Amino acid sequence: MPTPLIAGNWKMNTTIQEAAQLAGHLRGSLGGVSGVEVVLCPPYVSLSEVAMALQGSAIKVGAQNMHYEDKGAFTGEVSPQMLLGLCQYVILGHSERRRDFAETDAIVNRKVRKALASGLHPILCVGELLADRQAGREEAVVSASLRASLEDVAVPRSLVVAYEPVWAIGTGLAATSAQAQAMCALIRRLLAQQFGAEEARATRVLYGGSVTPANIKEFASQPDIDGGLVGGASLNAQQFTEIVRTTASARPQGRPA
Ligand code: PEP
Repeated sequence: MPTPLIAGNWKMNTTIQEAAQLAGHLRGSLGGVSGVEVVLCPPYVSLSEVAMALQGSAIKVGAQNMHYEDKGAFTGEVSPQMLLGLCQYVILGHSERRRDFAETDAIVNRKVRKALASGLHPILCVGELLADRQAGREEAVVSASLRASLEDVAVPRSLVVAYEPVWAIGTGLAATSAQAQAMCALIRRLLAQQFGAEEARATRVLYGGSVTPANIKEFASQPDIDGGLVGGASLNAQQFTEIVRTTASARPQGRPA
């Protein structure tokens, strides 16, 4: 079983100074926690300060996006080459990027392939809209999105997939643990079809969408959920610390080691 992972997506929040302070605080409060990998994903401009604040600790750093080219005429964009050395992870295909910046599965696929080729660990987000779930299409939508996002990916080593139902993000309306488990199990089956059972077992599949200290235990104890992608609660040091600590002590049921 892979080590669970809790990633904090700070989105477009925190000044550079606030980001360094939050990272420093979490470094202290999470110092003694083992058995969980922790990744902080601040805005680009704070990556360097956050990386410095975490230097020598076990906490990793991630970006919230990247371009699929290494350099060129892409005003305002940030390339994988620029991220290397600053962070180890990169969130790709977050629903806010898909919704507000017209990112398609094809674009996300180019980014995933580029991140893997560059040595960055992608945290690939997939999830259905409320209308999809209401129409009973959640499995079809997530399957199609995952397949397209992973097209031509040969070895998923270092890939993380986050199931994030769009209706649960930032709404306070988390999925039930049964809904999340069912979708994460589906994702693992699809990973097994493409990469084989062993790779699928070793790939972390996270749940994201209104994760809090109160509900993380339910999610983290599901057999196919290997941790969480946390938005709002990751900006609160106390809540995020509790989420990580609870994950460290949660025992997934029914999953072979
Ligand atoms: C997210 O931004 O990926 C997310 C899951 O946000 P929240 O935890 O606030 O729902």
